[in-house]
This record gives sequence, C-alpha cells and structure tokens, in this order.
Amino acid sequence: MNLAALLEKSARHFGDRPAIALGHELFSSYQNTAERVARLAGGLLRRGLRPGDRIAIAMKNCPQYSDILFASWHAGATAVPMNAKLHSREFAYMLDHSSARLCFVTEDLEPVIRAAAMETQSGVEIIVANSQEYDALLKNNLAPLAQLEPDATAWIFYTSGTTGRPKGAMLTHRNLLMMTVSYFGDVDAIDETESILHAAPMSHGSGLYILPYVAKGACQIIPESGGFDPREVMEVLATHKKVGCFFAPTMISRLINDPSISAANTSNLKTIVYGGGPMYVADCQKALDVLGPKLVQIYGQGEAPMTITGLSRAAHMDINHPRYLDRLASVGTARTDLEVRVVDGDDQPLPVGEIGEICVRGDVVMQGYWKDPQASAESLKGGWLHTGDMGTFDEDGFLTLKDRSKDVIISGGTNIYPREVEEVLLRHEDVAEVSVIGRPNADWGEEVVAFVVATADTAPNKAALDRLCLDHIARFKRPKAYFYVEELPKNNYGKVLKTALREMV
Ligand code: AMP
Repeated sequence: MNLAALLEKSARHFGDRPAIALGHELFSSYQNTAERVARLAGGLLRRGLRPGDRIAIAMKNCPQYSDILFASWHAGATAVPMNAKLHSREFAYMLDHSSARLCFVTEDLEPVIRAAAMETQSGVEIIVANSQEYDALLKNNLAPLAQLEPDATAWIFYTSGTTGRPKGAMLTHRNLLMMTVSYFGDVDAIDETESILHAAPMSHGSGLYILPYVAKGACQIIPESGGFDPREVMEVLATHKKVGCFFAPTMISRLINDPSISAANTSNLKTIVYGGGPMYVADCQKALDVLGPKLVQIYGQGEAPMTITGLSRAAHMDINHPRYLDRLASVGTARTDLEVRVVDGDDQPLPVGEIGEICVRGDVVMQGYWKDPQASAESLKGGWLHTGDMGTFDEDGFLTLKDRSKDVIISGGTNIYPREVEEVLLRHEDVAEVSVIGRPNADWGEEVVAFVVATADTAPNKAALDRLCLDHIARFKRPKAYFYVEELPKNNYGKVLKTALREMV
C-alpha cells in the first residue's frame, strides 16, 4: 500500500485534467504532476534517502507542497509537515525529535530553518523549493513506486501543543487511506470537475484533504498569497467551479463578515468543511444565511485525522427538527469507519446524556506517538484512542463536546463547561470573542472568569453580561469577573490558549 498510488491512478485516468492551479492560472496537469513527483522521488533516492527516513516540510502553501508530500511517499519516506508559523525553537524541536534527514522550505522560511537546524543534532539538509538544487532533483529518472506495508508511517503529525511539548502522531498509509474513503462516505462526494482551495495551512487539515481530491482527479488551487484572505477567496470563486475548502471556524466568520461578501458570487463555492475548534451556534446560523447549504462540520484530531464525528450538510439544513439548535451546537454523529464512545474515569461506557471522555477505535486511529511509548500506551489504553475531549451523546447519537478535560472548571465540586458559558456571552452583540476559564478560589476550588474581546470601542458592560447569563444558565456558572482584552492568546492554528489565560489570572 502506498498513498502515492492515488496520484498515479488519477494521472492514468485524468492525465490531461488540471491537477494544480496557482490562483487563476493552471500550474500543472495530472500527467505532468505525476511525472514530476516520480522524478523528485528519484532525486531523493539518489541523495541516499532510505525507506522510512523522515522528510520535514516547513513551507507556506505553494504548488510544490503536494509534490513533496507525494514524492516522499513515492520514495517510501515519512513526511513531517510543520506549521509555517512556528518559532525557530519549535522547528528545532521537531527536526530533532523526528531526526529528519531533509527539510524542504519555502524561501521565506529558509533563514528560520537554518537557525533551527544549527540547534539540532541530526544534521538535517535543507532544500529550498523552487531553487536550482530543487530543480536538479526534478531531472532524475522516474523512481518506481515504493512498495510499503500498510502500517508504514506516512505522516508524522505534530499536535498543536496547547499544553507542553507537541507530540508526533504517527499516521500510517492505512490511516490516511481510511480517512480518504471516509471523506467520500460521510463528508462529500467529489468528481474530477471539482477543486479544493488551500487557504488553510497545508501542514494541517487542508493538506490532509489533498488526498480525497487527488484520489478523484480533482484540482488543488493554491491561493497566490499562500494563505487566507477573504477577498482572494472570492476572486478564486470567480474562475474556479465547484470549489471545496477546509476552514477553521474563525475563517468562516472572517469570510462572512468581510464587506465584500455582499457583492460576491458564491455560487461556485460547493462545500466548506469546518472543524478544529468550536463553531458557535450564532456564527453557524449566520454562515448558513449568507452562504446557503454549504457547510459540513467535522470533529477530529491529529491522532484520528479529520475523522471522529461529522455534522452533515443535511443536518445543517434540517431547521424544522425539534432539536435543530442542539444539533448545530454538536459535532454530529460517529463517522462510518470508527466506533466512538464516552467513558468514565475507569474507561466504562456511560449512558446517553452523561459526560465523559470521548474514546475512539478504528482504522483511522494513529499507530502511536513517535518515540514516545509511554504517551502512546496512555493514549491508546485498551485499544481505544483517548481523545482528552469531554463530551456527551444524545439519544440520536449526536455528540456534543464539553471542552478538553483539562479545561473543565470544577467549582464547589460541580463541573462547569466553559463552552456553555461562552455560547451565552457570545449572544451579546458587543462581544466579538470570549474565552472562559477557572480561577483558583479558596472556598470553591475554582470560580468562573471570562476574557472578553469587544466588537466596538465600548466594551459590553458587566451588568448586561451578568443579566444574559442569569437569563440562560444556572447562577453558579455566571463569571465572577470579566477581563476585557484586545485579543485572545492563540496558537498558530488559531486555537485559544487557555493555559496562557490561566497564567494571566
Ligand atoms: P488538532 O489535533 O490540532 O487537530 O486538534 C484537535 C482538537 O481540536 C480536538 O481534540 C478538539 O479538542 C478540537 N476540535 C476538533 N474539531 C472540533 C470541532 N468540530 N469542534 C470543537 N472542537 C474541535
């Protein structure tokens, strides 16, 4: 089994079709892409690369990104995509920890990676994508497709590390093939006339979704900016048809709140798959109003890539269902290819309605963490991946997340789930963003406090926020203090760093 076979197959079936576009322009057909990838793999092998060697990627989104991923697999190597916005020290950690032989970089990241490489022991070689050295690799003979065991590691996915050191989830060829097939089953059907717009980082969700699109001979569109800009997204939609994208919830909010959206023609937008963090109900409803039936939610994590539960397009539009709003607040139902359960502290399954840790089992679940047998054993205890997320099922099998276990606030022995309080505070029109955490309290253990980012210059007043809470949730869940901040601390994937907020209080 080798994921690079997906590209070979599409080149055979859809050779002349566009494989990669840069903005409005065609970059390469399937046939040319597959040939370039096989030559690049030949170049890597000539450089002495051996099956299983790690190839790090520190690149912003660009047409070479998917070539390098596929060439790594074609040659039998393991890809280690790294978020382009990391700090030099974080890059150094990942290069060292994965003992990467090679690191591909875009020109803008070359200095920071050279600095990082100086701190590592592994003697990693750096190759700038699109340099003469890179072009020389493309002049090699076509390498044959490496024959790999299904459990060979294809991708080391470093977790975003909202606490502590990132861990490297080992995703095998089998895992990612299952993720690909499950996409067609549960998320969206795709054909060769469609495309994916990579406005989110290709080191993360958008990069994983290369696979279903390549498997069906669809096109990958790389925005010229290499990132997310609402206006550029709308420009791309003017030329490309049937466009799908993976967005973090904050990207959807930015898109629909951009002034240019009112004049834009979004009929070429087919699907936005969103996930990676909470999408608040009010934002979701607004997005559906503005964009129409184009949203699909997924809940996954690096350890079970993009695949734990999903909220389908149909569920987003089922507005007459008596539990419609609860469903919008949920992460949907268990994906076809895996088992999902909610367990207590002794790993015993809990009944419907009770909150516990979400555990999953199936072919999409990682092999373990790279060079960390202890963390692997803890995480995969009893053959189930322990996600660290708390949640509860309703009677129809819809799962609602209740924050990470470490984010739950325990006040006077009662659990308070920050998201519930956040959803209420976000109803206030002057609240743009909010994050709720627990602050140590001598009497109660912890008490609820909220960090609020205001939409306008005038911060919403405390009395109004209190009133809102008293109208919607139990009194003890109401924040005891509000801190007004310019912005919330976030990591490079846009996830709020509650650890940093806890340090602030
Ligand atoms: P990562 O491994 O960086 O993709 O982060 C995965 C974590 O993001 C999960 O364990 C959840 O805590 C969170 N997450 C992922 N998808 C969703 C979603 N649809 N809604 C809320 N949180 C999510």
